[in-house]
Amino acid sequence: MSNFDEITKILQENNNFLITSHINLDGDGIGSELALYFLIKKLNKKPIILNQNRLPKIYDFLPGSDKVHYLNNNRINPKSIDVGIVLDCSNIKRIGKTYEIFKNLKTIINVDHHKSNENFGSLNYVDYSASSVGEIIYELIKSIDADLLDEKISTCLFTAIITDTGSFKYSNVSSKTFGMASHLTSNGIKPYLIADNIYNKNTYAGLKLLGKSLLTLEVDDSNYFSWLTITRKMLNDTNANDEDIEGIIDIATTLNNVEISILFRETKDNKIKVSFRSKGNFDVNKFAGKFKGGGHPNAAGCLCSGKLDEIKENILSELFDDIKYPGHENKNKIF
Ligand code: AMP
Ligand code: MN
Ligand code: MN
Repeated sequence: MSNFDEITKILQENNNFLITSHINLDGDGIGSELALYFLIKKLNKKPIILNQNRLPKIYDFLPGSDKVHYLNNNRINPKSIDVGIVLDCSNIKRIGKTYEIFKNLKTIINVDHHKSNENFGSLNYVDYSASSVGEIIYELIKSIDADLLDEKISTCLFTAIITDTGSFKYSNVSSKTFGMASHLTSNGIKPYLIADNIYNKNTYAGLKLLGKSLLTLEVDDSNYFSWLTITRKMLNDTNANDEDIEGIIDIATTLNNVEISILFRETKDNKIKVSFRSKGNFDVNKFAGKFKGGGHPNAAGCLCSGKLDEIKENILSELFDDIKYPGHENKNKIF
């Protein structure tokens, strides 16, 4: 998929754009939102970014972070918007409460890279082969005019790719991804400073929470999958907040030989959010689909209602039923 004509036409023929992404905003969501915001500005049009929640603090370093609105600090009249743009969401519900505004918009452009995308837009640009939505926005901008890729846009796009590829570690990395990173770097960005802002900003409370979370780590008898639990009590005891949870599952995933990791966490509104990560062939997107969730083959999630212990029991026993224990000692052999 590489034809951006339809999106470009809509960008050129309209004036007021409302951009959003998914709840629990991540680097791909915000990086893509801001890159598109700057692009639309450069086309002399009016973009607004609106997310359900406040921008996670670690992304304050991004250019334009002060332009990112969230529901409680902004009232937007849908009549003032020509086009809605939804980024990095497999289904429209992922945008959370901003749906109350988006449901009134006539034109919605859906730009995504999730396999489970439901093509909910009036125009859908979904490319599973892209490492990130940032990679798609990069191609879109290049197709309009590569000179538009200034340092600000490049910084936002680089943030999108490094966060969605685990700093070029995941299986979604292709030569295209490195080509793009190289091009963005040639536009004057400073990858080490971007990485420093994203990865070296743990809080004291956050590290304490990490310690407590790792104490809950369990593995099945075959060492094939592991799971962690984070309760509201653990957050209260350490003074940590929900943003501090980001990245903890990825540390559990580093455990040797373990192929699947799961994080169960209690949310502020008494639900259980479950994150899945896989290092091999087990498709966690498909598995999360059994619980009305989704994502990518190697990173997915779902949101459940009910008691923590029962949900854990249910999901873990479903996993026991689903996995076949292959001779996984060879699974990631390179040669
Ligand atoms: P997370 O575990 O929240 O970091 O999410 C990992 C991946 O799964 C991301 O690509 C998310 O967009 C996706 N994901 C997480 N939760 C859900 C959900 N409830 N429904 C659909 N996709 C999800
Ligand atoms: Mn995302
Ligand atoms: Mn993404």
